[in-house]
Amino acid sequence: MMKKLYLPTLLLGCLLCFTNVQSLHFQEIILVIDPGHGGKDPGKPKANKGTLDEKNINLAIALKVGGYVKSNIPNVKVLYTRTTDVYLSLSDRTDFANRNKADVFISIHANSNPKSHIQGTETHIYSHKHTASKQLATLIEKEFAEKAARKSRGVIDATQRGHNLYVTQYVKMPSVLVETGYLTNPQEEEYLNSEWGQVIIASAIYRGLKTFVKTAPPKEDRSKYYKVQILASSKPVKINASQFGELEDQVIEITGNAQDKYRYKYMVGREYDMERAKILLKKVKNKGFDGAFIVEMEDK
Ligand SMILES: [Zn+2]
Repeated sequence: MMKKLYLPTLLLGCLLCFTNVQSLHFQEIILVIDPGHGGKDPGKPKANKGTLDEKNINLAIALKVGGYVKSNIPNVKVLYTRTTDVYLSLSDRTDFANRNKADVFISIHANSNPKSHIQGTETHIYSHKHTASKQLATLIEKEFAEKAARKSRGVIDATQRGHNLYVTQYVKMPSVLVETGYLTNPQEEEYLNSEWGQVIIASAIYRGLKTFVKTAPPKEDRSKYYKVQILASSKPVKINASQFGELEDQVIEITGNAQDKYRYKYMVGREYDMERAKILLKKVKNKGFDGAFIVEMEDK
């Protein structure tokens, strides 16, 4: 009797255990999808009559990705930075993702290059050291290459690019920026303008994301980072003051304690990597802020 009882008990035990493991993957995940450009900013403008501006291609693909996610991955909540042809600044996009405490951020773009033979997809991240971003980017590029039969140009970080991409840098969660192909390449231009091409690209991004959320992605800590302090003052200085005009990076004001002599501090950047912080410091010093220095920051 004992033996007969044992097997079903074990099976039930396993089933419960399986259910528990599964439920971990069914925690709600907030996904922000960001269709690049919009409104007065067309991105890469349409080249010929009948083709679309980059902003419209980005939006069409983004809405498809979101639609597939909504219908097929019930524990992922989809939010869009825009669903219509409106202009948003880069900080509007990252603020939206941070305010909504997103778990994943995907920005969708199409590429361009003066050389029309250049083609292929690229997925951009801040750093290869950001393990979750890298994993998602790798999964998307794998889908592009293997299932969508696109030419994958791989996963590219800020060091390889030689510059930062604002949206992958200023969000506090794993983030990728997908370049779905080159609009300056006639074949890819036609493909990305077609419903068929957009469906294939969107499906590949969706499948990459699905694998990412189903396989418990690695944790990515973005709470510690560096900024460069450019100025400290006893009185507030306007953020749009002409002395900051030369800086490419957005200046923020951080107010210290009332007893601090130089209470108002002005900083730029958000770098997770000391090497990149040093590059930013050099850039800022070259703009005339000789006294600038690197500050360690932490989001609480
Ligand atoms: Zn773009």
